[in-house]
Amino acid sequence: MPLSEFSLIRRFFTQQRIANPSTLLGIGDDCALLSIPDGYELAVTTDTMVENVHFFAGADPELLGHKLLAVNLSDLAGMGAKPISVTLALTLPKVDENWLTAFAKGFLNLAERHSVDLIGGDTTSGPLTLTVQAMGLVPKGRALRRSAARPGDFIYMTGFLGDAGLGLKIKQGYRCADSDAALTRFNRPDPQIEAGLALIGVANACIDLSDGLAGDLSHILEQSQVGACIDWEALPLSKPVLSYINNTGDWAMPLTAGDDYELCFTVSPDQAEQLTIAASKIGIIEAKPGLRLNKSGNIQPLEVKGFEHFS
Ligand code: ADP
Ligand code: MG
Repeated sequence: MPLSEFSLIRRFFTQQRIANPSTLLGIGDDCALLSIPDGYELAVTTDTMVENVHFFAGADPELLGHKLLAVNLSDLAGMGAKPISVTLALTLPKVDENWLTAFAKGFLNLAERHSVDLIGGDTTSGPLTLTVQAMGLVPKGRALRRSAARPGDFIYMTGFLGDAGLGLKIKQGYRCADSDAALTRFNRPDPQIEAGLALIGVANACIDLSDGLAGDLSHILEQSQVGACIDWEALPLSKPVLSYINNTGDWAMPLTAGDDYELCFTVSPDQAEQLTIAASKIGIIEAKPGLRLNKSGNIQPLEVKGFEHFS
């Protein structure tokens, strides 16, 4: 007999113990209860992954569980919030116990690593659709907003650019040496929680890189009503990404490919010494609107289009 909805939740999604002090009540009642400490605000975000839109049919369920949670935690990182808990809405075509075991493993391992509690959710039948809502704490009035960049700010990013994009190319058939690292970057993004926390009080604007640097940085530019110039030579490109560009001529890939889940942020020059995390300085915020690229002294407008669902 297939598992009932309730025993499914108990068996796969009820953690052994509550890990976060903000969780007053977890799974099992009509609502969960959260405690918000004095001096903090609650940051809330949600992200959905749909089969055949965000992932290939038959994708490894453990990697899916990891990535679903990682992309939501990455949004909290982009605000400088510390994750406390998540809810999980699952729409499943059928109850496949092997699938659920692997999915829950990928999901709960990452949750545990960040002391995040799974405090509730919903379970329904239908086409495979995975939704998480993530909650985090941020000191009152200090969240890193997209609207706070100022002309003259330096633009930085954590980590490397375009490795996840290369991972996707490899999944689509591109062949290169050393493909494992890029595939891992695509499959197992590592949300930059610690970096986000370290940027509170240092960075002006911040965004997590989910849809590609050009598109995501443009969100900062629009909301802050400024422009920017990116320095091509300063972009942190790994060896495999550089050889991909050499082999294909597709130099725009790292600027437009998504899924890196690094942080891109701006810092005013007088705050730059306060920056304690490893990051590459990749450009500068300017008063003139629009995004530009300085490639060997030749400054050109950068046309941006991240992925849009309804276009
Ligand atoms: P309700 O009928 O009140 O919506 P449900 O029967 O949907 O409650 O869920 C029972 C309990 O299990 C609730 O606490 C709910 O938050 C939790 N829950 C349901 N599905 C999931 C899931 N996929 N992951 C975690 N918790 C879940
Ligand atoms: Mg319900």
